[in-house]
Amino acid sequence: MKTKVEPDLCIACGLCISTCPDVYDWGDDGKAVALQEEVPQEQEECAQEATDACPTEAIITE
Ligand code: SF4
Repeated sequence: MKTKVEPDLCIACGLCISTCPDVYDWGDDGKAVALQEEVPQEQEECAQEATDACPTEAIITE
């Protein structure tokens, strides 16, 4: 599973970071970023949860 955040769509609500802090964090631009593109297997559930919960669909996970 791969994940990334589209910065133009991120409104910096912080939901993904609180949902899945091992995968998402704040970037230098104040938007969320994926710490690693390839999601570790044990983090896949929370990465998917964060993706589904993002209010602007800024997270692309596949
Ligand atoms: S949940 Fe979506 S909008 Fe909110 S910080 Fe994460 S990527 Fe940005």
